[in-house]
This record gives sequence, C-alpha cells and structure tokens, in this order.
Amino acid sequence: MPEPERWILHADMDAFYASVEQRERPELRGKPVIVGAHSARGVVSAASYEAREYGVRSAMPGFRARELCPDGVFLPGRMDLYVRVSGEVHRIFEEFTDTIQPLALDEAFLDVGGSMHLFAGPEQLGAQLKARVAERTQLDISVGLASSKLVAKIACTLSKPNGLKVVPRGSERALLAPLPIRRLWGVGPVAAQRLAGWNIHTVGDLADYDERQLFRLAGERGLQLQRWARGRDDSPVVSERVAKSCGEENTFASDVSEREQVSAAITSHSETVAARLRAMRLRGRTVTLKIKLARRRGGKVPRVGSMLDDEPDYPVLSRSKTLPSPTDDAKQIRDVALKLWDASALGEPIRLIGVTLSNLQPADAPRQLELFGEQRKADELGPTLDAIVRRFGKGAIRRAVDEPEKTTLSLTRKVPPGS
Ligand SMILES: [Mg+2]
Repeated sequence: MPEPERWILHADMDAFYASVEQRERPELRGKPVIVGAHSARGVVSAASYEAREYGVRSAMPGFRARELCPDGVFLPGRMDLYVRVSGEVHRIFEEFTDTIQPLALDEAFLDVGGSMHLFAGPEQLGAQLKARVAERTQLDISVGLASSKLVAKIACTLSKPNGLKVVPRGSERALLAPLPIRRLWGVGPVAAQRLAGWNIHTVGDLADYDERQLFRLAGERGLQLQRWARGRDDSPVVSERVAKSCGEENTFASDVSEREQVSAAITSHSETVAARLRAMRLRGRTVTLKIKLARRRGGKVPRVGSMLDDEPDYPVLSRSKTLPSPTDDAKQIRDVALKLWDASALGEPIRLIGVTLSNLQPADAPRQLELFGEQRKADELGPTLDAIVRRFGKGAIRRAVDEPEKTTLSLTRKVPPGS
C-alpha cells in the first residue's frame, strides 16, 4: 500500500476559557467576558470576541483591560473546569486519529493522513470534527489542515473565529508570503527586530532572501527559518501518550521583585499543574522552579548562532527538589516551589517564573509506605476539591493557601515545529 498523503490538522478552541464561562452562564452570552484579570494585579488570560472588539487581548494587564472595557464582565479563572472540558475535546480528537500532540489545553496537532480515506477529503474531515465538538461541548473550535504542522497552525489562526481552512498542496508558500514575519514560528520580538534591520518584514521577504547572504548573517538558524518561511516543515506530530513533565509558567507584564507577587504566581501555577496531573491521573516526584532574570547578560555581541533566538540574553535558572513520594497536591507542590524560591535568595527582578512536575508516574502505582499519613490526607483532599470546584466554581472553596489571581493561564508545552 502506498504511503498516505501527509495531512496535519491543527485545532484550537475559540476564546476557550471565556467561551466555557459563557456556556456555563447563558446570561453572559453576547457580553464582553474577560477571564483572569479579576484583581488589579491579574493579567487577561482569555477575552471573549465581544471583549476583543474593545481591544482587550490575552496577557494584557487587568487595569488596561478595565480602561478599554469598563463594562466588561471580569471573572477569575476556573482551571479545573477548563481541564475537564479539554478532556472532552481530546476524546473527540481520538475519534479521528491516534497521533495527537497537545500544545495547550485548547490546542493540538493531529496527524490525520492515515484516516483521510474515511472521508471525502480534508474539508469533510475538518467539518466533521468541528460538528462533533459543537454538538458535544456547545463550543466553537477552529481547524486548519495542511501538509505540515507549521502551515496547519497558521491556517487555523487565519480561519478564526469558528473557522475551517484547508491549504491545498503547493500553495503553502503563497499563503505565508504576505504575513508579517512575527507570524512565523520561532520569530519573537528580538528576532523580528533583527530581521527588520535586514529589510525582512514579511514571511515572503524571508522566503525570497538570498540564501548565502542569510547564512552569512544568521547561520543555520537563519536557513531553518527560511525553510519554514517557504512552507517547508517535516516535523512529525509527536503523541504525548506518556507525559514526561507537566508545567506552567508566565512572563510578567513588567519585571517583578516582591516575594508576594512571585508567591502568587507560584501558588497559581501549582494549582494548575496539580489539576492537570489529576486530570491525567498522574503524580510527580520532582518539583522544578524555573526563573528567568530580568537583567541582561553582559556584552553586546550575541553568541554565535543565536542572533535570531528570542531573548537569548536573559539568564535562566532552575532549582529542583525530588520528594520521597509522588504528589498531585497543589499545596505540597506550592510549598516546595516556594522554598526553592526562598533558598535561591535572588534579590533582583525577574521576568518569568515557572513550576514543573517531572518524574511522573500513574496515580495508582504502588507507593512507599507513608510514615505520617500526611500524603493520604492530601490525596483525599485533591479530588474532593476538584469535584466541588467543578460544581460550584473556584470561589466556593479555599485552601489554607492564599489563592491569587492567575497571572496568565498560558501553558508551557508549546514547541516549535522543528523540535
Ligand atoms: Mg484557543
């Protein structure tokens, strides 16, 4: 049998957290709903399309969102609920292929080449996936289908909201050419600025750039970006059947040095990581705290080969601790992460903080005998909290830890197509 044609589908829920809130509370439908900027310090993690009309965007500080949209409905995030809905959507994905690579709670790549023969074509496959999601979750999902991950993702973004876009073979480069260079994978603000200095402003500019000149300026990294700009990306969809780690991080809207703010972010990330571990029925033993310092490394000359890397100059530190037994308990994760923060005694501003659990194992794996019974108490508390939060919302219950606003709800599993 010949190899089936390669078809990659990128699926992304529209305004996910805000749409879930509007689904749960019909009185919010048609209103500007903003999730995650509930307090002055919070940052917008999702804005409904109604709120976007006022200019509200993800990662915007709460006070700015309030200026733009004073009549908006500002809600705290309910991560446990979003994790549950995400699971329902993932099960629909599994009806189309076994090869699924989740990128975030509301976003995944599916390799659907092997199941294409079951459908009249990519349009029909995409339409069916959208219809099943709408029927079972009452939520909109946008879908892009193309010959590669890179192009499928961009097609999906272009199709929003509630879109379906199929990119015919051979038209990839033409689709990408007019887009601003920032839309290309791996091009952040730093790289975009450098490329602009070489008069590269659109993806097409990079695709057409002289290869030898580009290699001289930016090395292999430049050529790799150029291959992407030409719509070439062979990277496979990598199923994460067995997750190796589960993490959450955020970049602060402005650099942060007070412990209170760092602690709020750590608490929030620990809650999210714990909820996701429980949803996956996993526990982890190693807690890692990732810290990106706000200070730039000395020296004006960039390291060779890193000229187009984003933020190459900010030092990243990580601190880990391995527990005697695995956990999925938010408070335990938070306490360890906070101790790691205090022990690092930085005394300087930071840009980013992340909490990751690794060394994962199934929640029902046999464990060492507990001496003090504390682990057992935490085990019983976690799932109960999930159930209460699911029914009554996050405000219904509070743990003995302060529960701050989410800084952002962004996930850390985003990977560039080449990896
Ligand atoms: Mg989305």
